[in-house]
Amino acid sequence: MTIRRNEPIRVTGKYFSWSTAREKHFEFCPRAYFYQYYAAAGGFEKYSAARQLYKLKHLTTVPFWIKSLLGECLRDWFYDVSGDIPPEKVMRRLLSWRFRKGIKSLSLQEWREDSKKLNLFEHYYEHSDLGDILESVTAALTTAAKKLFQSGLIARLEKVDQVNKVIFNPPLETNLGALKLWFAADLVWQEDGKVNFLNILVENESELSAVRMVLHRLYAMHQLKLSPDKVQSFGFLPSNGIVYRFDDSKLNVSECINHIKDSSAKLLQLHTDELREEEFIKSGNNCDNCRFQEFCRNRSLQLA
Ligand code: SF4
Repeated sequence: MTIRRNEPIRVTGKYFSWSTAREKHFEFCPRAYFYQYYAAAGGFEKYSAARQLYKLKHLTTVPFWIKSLLGECLRDWFYDVSGDIPPEKVMRRLLSWRFRKGIKSLSLQEWREDSKKLNLFEHYYEHSDLGDILESVTAALTTAAKKLFQSGLIARLEKVDQVNKVIFNPPLETNLGALKLWFAADLVWQEDGKVNFLNILVENESELSAVRMVLHRLYAMHQLKLSPDKVQSFGFLPSNGIVYRFDDSKLNVSECINHIKDSSAKLLQLHTDELREEEFIKSGNNCDNCRFQEFCRNRSLQLA
């Protein structure tokens, strides 16, 4: 793959797996989708021309940082079998350790050398003061940790036997025929003959989509050999501390399956042997919220 000034990018299409994130990226802006899933590939190599895209691809926002800190700490605690230290103490230690690690990384701007290191959109593009951001994250984490314990979720998870914990490296993978499907979950465990999926949510995710619930069911069927009626989907929203149990009584599985088929067919049409930058139309509606704005705006001038 080459990125040269004054020349459109050309990429060879390799692997394809469908996910709700992939679909959302395409809806956000087809050009941003091209940068995220294709043009940034190979940017992890030190001298790659795609390094700038790879760096921007890993920008995250404050709400997603909070979500990932909580998810990582919850997983660290859930899968750890050692010791009798009360979970509240363990979780607070883990949160404090991971948070301090993030602060150090941000302060040293480690993302300049290693694109996978933490870099915040609000600081990078909006020039928000790092001190103010850290203060707001500290407050949000303190509230979220308190509400997590008040919700009763930790007490419930504490009772899950080791044998009933499903081990995985996010994202989870399942399939629809030969189509690979990826989806996110923070914890998966079995209890009373059922399998439970928990997602830490960000504000606009408080309605866990019907498609995500169907992905949970496909995973249960294919990977755990459990029927769809043995699946429960939960979400924890840190800002209000509510654990949502998602109601599947009105879930229309065939509608969701058709949605995945239509969406993947649309994206696969563009997944050709040679993907061409200009074929991924710029939506132009979300540029101020786009992680690729720095690259894309310069690019417009280069290609003009
Ligand atoms: S800056 Fe705007 S046009 Fe360019 S990729 Fe982002 S959203 Fe699309």
